Amino acid sequence: PQPVVAVVGRPNVGKSTLVNRILGRREAVVQDTPGVTRDRIAYDATWRGRRFTLVDTGGWEPNASGLQASVAAQAELAMATADVVLLVVDATVGATSADEAVAKVLRRSKRPVVLAANKVDDERLVAETASLWSLGLGEPQPVSALHGRSSGDLLDVLVDAL
Ligand code: GDP
Ligand code: MG
Repeated sequence: PQPVVAVVGRPNVGKSTLVNRILGRREAVVQDTPGVTRDRIAYDATWRGRRFTLVDTGGWEPNASGLQASVAAQAELAMATADVVLLVVDATVGATSADEAVAKVLRRSKRPVVLAANKVDDERLVAETASLWSLGLGEPQPVSALHGRSSGDLLDVLVDAL
């Protein structure tokens, strides 16, 4: 069986956009409205000859217990089912309390975690990603899922963690 990468993070950070970017096609549903559920969440992906299953966790969020609880539950589920967790945060917003809640869960994990600082659409935003070191998950990887900026670098880090 190929390794599983779970993409986690709060709604609207760009998880589905990043999944589409990694797949190189438009398949995961991108919505401006958070909380949209879908049927299919697992996709086959390849990077530099490494095959992996990419799981877009968007369909698990948010629920009645509230955003923070639901993203934490999502992270628990990702840890239980994935070999590597790809945590996506919105670099233009910085670390929110929901991001901190999910990071806290992930720090307890034995699984490797790759931290994607998304929406870094241009060079000027790269410096702002440094604040995301505070999540305690290592180096934030700046990326623009929308424009593809640095997505190859993120994928290099991701497949190294497989
Ligand atoms: P999800 O809820 O985490 O799956 O987020 P989506 O992928 O549905 O994206 C939410 C919104 O953020 C959409 O309007 C996307 O177009 C936008 N978005 C995603 N990635 C980027 C990015 O790299 N830059 C910018 N500017 N917007 C993005
Ligand atoms: Mg989504």
